[in-house]
Amino acid sequence: MERPAILNSRHLLGVAGLSIAEITALMDLAEEYVALSRQREKKTNLLRGRTQINLFFEPSTRTQSSFELAGKRLGADVMNMSVKGSSVSKGETLLDTAVTLNAMNPDLLVIRHQHSGAAELLAQKVSCAVINAGDGWHEHPTQALLDALTIRRHKGKLENVVVAICGDIRHSRVARSNIILLSRMGARVRIVGPGPLLPPSAERLGVEVFHSLEEGLRGADVVMMLRLQRERMDGAFIPSEREYYRFWGLNEERLRLAKEDAIVMHPGPMNRGVEIDSSVADGPRSVIREQVEMGVAVRMAVLDALARNLEREAAA
Ligand code: ASP
Repeated sequence: MERPAILNSRHLLGVAGLSIAEITALMDLAEEYVALSRQREKKTNLLRGRTQINLFFEPSTRTQSSFELAGKRLGADVMNMSVKGSSVSKGETLLDTAVTLNAMNPDLLVIRHQHSGAAELLAQKVSCAVINAGDGWHEHPTQALLDALTIRRHKGKLENVVVAICGDIRHSRVARSNIILLSRMGARVRIVGPGPLLPPSAERLGVEVFHSLEEGLRGADVVMMLRLQRERMDGAFIPSEREYYRFWGLNEERLRLAKEDAIVMHPGPMNRGVEIDSSVADGPRSVIREQVEMGVAVRMAVLDALARNLEREAAA
């Protein structure tokens, strides 16, 4: 029996093109995979015979292992390729690598790359479905989906939920994807950070902008902390990490300004003692580990949804 289509597009390159219906359907499907992943037998054979390649040009712990597990739980053959030790470190271009891998007939290609737009470029050159696992400052769609799912599980909805995204917004693809997705779903998004770490056109993003952590936290339902993305900074954006922590680090005292039942999120990797104190990261309001669990389920949902489209294409 043909399963219903969930995504309209062949690839998942960002959340910008997703409708409310697509986002909701992906989250609902992910809920099924949360349940499956909590069972002793975690495997289905929906992707049996399919080949998934994870092509990571930037280091990753959570995202890469999460995509690997997701593919394996769906029964796909999964191959991980990281740049170290591959021909990319010998100077091969992204497109040469992609065309080479494409010749091996993969069905799904997961890519992380340091340049914005890399996933889209790749999608134009290969014949398989492409999933963006983070491209430069641009987008990280599966992170935004897993964050939305985590919020929905705790708050029961996304509409009118006040989400304070705090820290280095400017260099963060997580912030970008979250701003787009959460706003589309009706959440009230705030961005909170020092001027140099906010995007130049912050006001135009349709979010509320706060230049003080205390102000931004007041009355928030969700507090999402972000790491300083040093690898993307081309100058001195902050005086020192100590100074940053003094004004922008989330500690228990500051968290009291948010709603009593506020949850604390972080996409990882965390820099304890810089943007977040350990007492908060490991405290009762933290859902950081749950985000990791939701990550596997959301990635299973995305792989499943794209594989359904491949079946349809083949049948047409
Ligand atoms: N892991 C996330 C990303 O790849 C967040 C981060 O690196 O700070 O964008």
